[in-house]
Amino acid sequence: MKQAEYTGENWPTVGYGGGSDAPVFYRVCPICSRFVKADKQSQMPEYTKANATCKVHGRVVMPFCCWQDDVLVVKREEQGE
Ligand SMILES: [Zn+2]
Repeated sequence: MKQAEYTGENWPTVGYGGGSDAPVFYRVCPICSRFVKADKQSQMPEYTKANATCKVHGRVVMPFCCWQDDVLVVKREEQGE
């Protein structure tokens, strides 16, 4: 089986909080890269012990993607601004 690669290009993300420093995670299992059921809330990445449920692996931590601020910057660049 292919090892999960976190390029993130086609992967769904889930963000927590509304501020520019809100964490954004890839909504996949870090072990098998299946889509997971994300929790409604999550702690900061460095403190998170589990923030999603994988059908196979149970409680897992979604791979950290970026900060909300970075997403907004990327979106602006895509729009050519
Ligand atoms: Zn899994």
